[in-house]
Amino acid sequence: MTRFYTIKVGFTNCFLVPSGRGYLLLDTGVPGKSDVLWEFLRERSIDPREIRLIVLTHAHFDHAGNAFEVKARSGAELLVHKCEIEALMKGKTEIPPGLGTWGGFLFRFLSHLDTSFSPVEPDIYIEGDFDLSELDFPGRIIHTPGHTAGSITLLLDKGEAFVGDLLMSGPPLRLSPGLPVFAKSREEVINSLKKLRDLGAKTLYPAHGKPFPFRAIESLVRIQ
Ligand SMILES: [Zn+2]
Ligand SMILES: [Zn+2]
Repeated sequence: MTRFYTIKVGFTNCFLVPSGRGYLLLDTGVPGKSDVLWEFLRERSIDPREIRLIVLTHAHFDHAGNAFEVKARSGAELLVHKCEIEALMKGKTEIPPGLGTWGGFLFRFLSHLDTSFSPVEPDIYIEGDFDLSELDFPGRIIHTPGHTAGSITLLLDKGEAFVGDLLMSGPPLRLSPGLPVFAKSREEVINSLKKLRDLGAKTLYPAHGKPFPFRAIESLVRIQ
């Protein structure tokens, strides 16, 4: 059985999780790149209306970029953490401070780019962790702040953790698994990683870069 699909929309990995109720789409990718998603569905004979729930890991342009369009075309409900609503409804990316020299450089670079996206109103917001079985979907949403205040992770029952930008592992942002290059709080990122470890996260799927086992970043958690 297919547990999930990875769809790279622009430079962002989005994930499509099948369930008895339809599909859950985690993140919607970079604005203007939605054709990739529609083509992916078409090739697999999946009707866009089979997407029943859109979950955004956070409201940055490269994750929320096509949320308005996907919601309109699918009729799916849109779920975010409460702390992301304001940015989502403004369509404005608040880039968190850069971590380290490279993060500082990228921060200045990104500050000059247009990181706006179509504003969209969520249907469901959560304030802490949330068991998706309440909506007849598999897995749990775990509040994992650090990159932004309302960043969340989708955790499936075999320990697959879809972490958004809580960690990064590939170009253009990083070359190997590690901390995000931007974060509201490094300490919060570490605490969120400890939380995921304690909840049984085994394989981490970042939005930018390839998946990797938790042990690849174990040292980040252990030295704290
Ligand atoms: Zn982000
Ligand atoms: Zn991102």
